[in-house]
Amino acid sequence: MKKLIVTLQLLLVFFTAVAQDSTAVFFSNYISPSLIKQHLEVLASDSLEGRETAAPGMVKAANYVSSQYEKLGLPTLANGTRFQEFPLVNLIAGMMTIDTRKKSYKQSGDFFFTDNSAELQLEATDIVFVGYGIVDSTIGWNDYSDVDVNGKVVMFLEGEPMKKDGSAQFTKSGAESPWAIGRQKKIQLAKDRNAKAVLFVQKDYKKNYERISRWLVSGRLALPDEEAKQIIPVAYITPEMANDFLQHAGYTVSSYEKRITKKKKSFALTLNQDISITSKISKTSCRNVLGYVEGSSLKDEVIVISAHLDHLGKRGDKIYYGADDDGSGSASLLAMAEAFVQAKKAGKGPQRSILFLNFSGEEKGLLGSEFYTQNPVFPLEKTVANLNIDMIGRLDSAHASNPDYTYIIGSDKLSTQLHRINEEANKFCCNLELDYKYNDPSDKMKLYYRSDHYNFAKNKIPVIFYFTGIHDDYHKPTDTIDKIDFDKTSKIAKLVFNTAWQLANQPERIVVDVENDFKE
Ligand SMILES: [Zn+2]
Repeated sequence: MKKLIVTLQLLLVFFTAVAQDSTAVFFSNYISPSLIKQHLEVLASDSLEGRETAAPGMVKAANYVSSQYEKLGLPTLANGTRFQEFPLVNLIAGMMTIDTRKKSYKQSGDFFFTDNSAELQLEATDIVFVGYGIVDSTIGWNDYSDVDVNGKVVMFLEGEPMKKDGSAQFTKSGAESPWAIGRQKKIQLAKDRNAKAVLFVQKDYKKNYERISRWLVSGRLALPDEEAKQIIPVAYITPEMANDFLQHAGYTVSSYEKRITKKKKSFALTLNQDISITSKISKTSCRNVLGYVEGSSLKDEVIVISAHLDHLGKRGDKIYYGADDDGSGSASLLAMAEAFVQAKKAGKGPQRSILFLNFSGEEKGLLGSEFYTQNPVFPLEKTVANLNIDMIGRLDSAHASNPDYTYIIGSDKLSTQLHRINEEANKFCCNLELDYKYNDPSDKMKLYYRSDHYNFAKNKIPVIFYFTGIHDDYHKPTDTIDKIDFDKTSKIAKLVFNTAWQLANQPERIVVDVENDFKE
């Protein structure tokens, strides 16, 4: 049996080798440096303001791409547009208010919050103070031992119990235990006990706030998934605010800590403090753009060619143009779409369908591709491969002497056939140096996980990630169009086109025949 498979595979290799098509090379010539440049001049222009996900510049970018697909005669989807709209929540830019009958506490001055994806309106007559919020059977400590916090507002301190001399109680040496910095663990303990909200007392409030404030201002977008809904609101509060509440039991933060130092035993306090907490999520949405070139005899099967359209937007009045990241890929997709359309017009259209997918939300954590693979417009079972382009317009320092290269990542990780097709297409059409440096799971850059193809690979769809490397302007306002090497960009786009052509036209669909050594 094994031998037979080997023989068949050899036959396929042979077939692949002879099937390279000069027609593909002919039509790939539509992917010219000047055409790519023409599209990039729009995408990396001031008016698109760095194409930040959910911002007006991104809407403009999506409209531009859709209008280009329309010009090429590519159809709309079932929803009458070429957009796949998806919802987002801003985990930070929402609103939280904390009030008592006596006082309205101020965001930033008295408290701040980070991930907030739960809508909440809570009125309570008490706050349960659980010391340091620690439960650890290995050291016999349980701050929740004598209280039920189900449905309650819980308050606890950062850090861990200390001895008089300032060393930690939990370790023999007196060195800090993991609880000294175990924030997420403490929040999880409260969540596990069904607390409704957490007030997390920060002894170094000012320092912590300053460290995080820039990040708070910029916000953090996420898909509104089930997991996120289970996050409970956590407000990081000042010791002064905590003292307002602790006084109902005759304590302050420092007198409580002194008591713990002396007693070496935890105790909780129920504070008769009315409190109302509201938290509102800031909701928004964004869109992927889909350009569909319908195939002929095998049109139900789809090759996805993707690039992310979004970039970092602007900070202050500085625009992050993202000409390379990933304007280069986005503009290349438009040129490739034109090449496939020209082939189709000449009666040489692809057998399988080609789907051009311009993702958004990539820079926010591959959100557009995550949403697409969770809500595919064309079934994932029928998705043959994903060829993803992210940054192909520049040279990195390792290739300063030879611009004609591209890194290839992931090609052999699920399908040996995909790897071979790409290599042979390259020999036939493009003669680029294919650099596999980042295709190694032990490589520290972990690039395999860092662009949209990853969401396809996770679903066992063979992928190739085309990339020309990190450079000095990466994620800076200086990633501008004047630095793009359009000859090189078009050569790589031609390779992608020729590989896609082969994937679309060879009689047998490529198969998954490798155990991926990049682990999830
Ligand atoms: Zn990118």
